[in-house]
Amino acid sequence: MSRPLAQARPASASRIEDARFAHESEEEFARLLDFYNVRWQYEPRTFPLRRSDDGRVIEAFSPDFYLSDLDLYIELTTLKQGLVTDKHRKLRQLRALYPDVRIKLLHKRDYLSLLAKYGIGAAHEQEVMGVRDVLITGTEIERRVNELGVEITRDYAGKEPLLVGVLKGVTCFMADLMRHLSLPLSIDFMTISSYEGDRSGAVRIVQDLTENIAGRDVLIVEDIVDTGMTLHHLRLQLEAREPASLRVCALLDKRVRRLVDVRLDYVGFEVPDAFVVGYGLDHFQKFRNLPFIATIGAEALEQQPAEGPAAE
Ligand code: 5GP
Repeated sequence: MSRPLAQARPASASRIEDARFAHESEEEFARLLDFYNVRWQYEPRTFPLRRSDDGRVIEAFSPDFYLSDLDLYIELTTLKQGLVTDKHRKLRQLRALYPDVRIKLLHKRDYLSLLAKYGIGAAHEQEVMGVRDVLITGTEIERRVNELGVEITRDYAGKEPLLVGVLKGVTCFMADLMRHLSLPLSIDFMTISSYEGDRSGAVRIVQDLTENIAGRDVLIVEDIVDTGMTLHHLRLQLEAREPASLRVCALLDKRVRRLVDVRLDYVGFEVPDAFVVGYGLDHFQKFRNLPFIATIGAEALEQQPAEGPAAE
């Protein structure tokens, strides 16, 4: 009887939640496959390539994905030329040893343009007009919002919180966060005047809540806390209405710019001292629909609104 040439790994993941991806690009690729209903397994099989005289495997290759519908293995490559050359060598060996196995090497460049076609991934991100650097990818946001959801659900167990969103920057975050909370909850929104929008007077509530918050467990949901002045003002306003509790969940914390010391109970990400856009955040109403958080180039930053000042 001949020795089996390939060894099956018993626990290979075929769902994103179960897989331990080595790189974020692999997770994105898995999402793309899911989107198109192409069944996949992550690193399901290791192919021995070389054995020592006593039969021990001394070189092996585990392709990243197996697409069972297509009977095809896929290996994603990085941009590091040294690694790519090594992969090519291993692939040649694999094809010689296992002629029936169908395997494709997907180069980073081709793979990024594939993702870009579907609106995901770095190639698409870099092509968006005016975007300079992507600070937080859509995948990273998704993962973190999920974590925040778990934490908040645990902390508010047995309660019925009222989420108060500060418009308009919070729209994406609120919509995603609330879907990760396994709690009976309500939502409400308010609009606060921004400094750029109203240089004549003090910060004020432009559009107030419709809910009475007295005795309620209120969670303020903010897009970004910068100097902390807006949030400080908001806290004072809401505390005066005597909620049972008042906490804050901010997606982004630009801590280095803080002027007023405000307590943040939940934070998605800390960001550096740069103007950021995307995932609800704007620059004169633009960029809100980007599915990631990015900085914009000087040219886009210098652009002014077409007409009238913008708020929030
Ligand atoms: P703060 O009062 O903490 O200085 O500012 C909070 C508000 O300023 C945020 O709700 C947001 O509307 C705006 N803001 C502060 N930093 C940024 C930023 O980097 N990008 C965008 N789009 N808005 C910001």
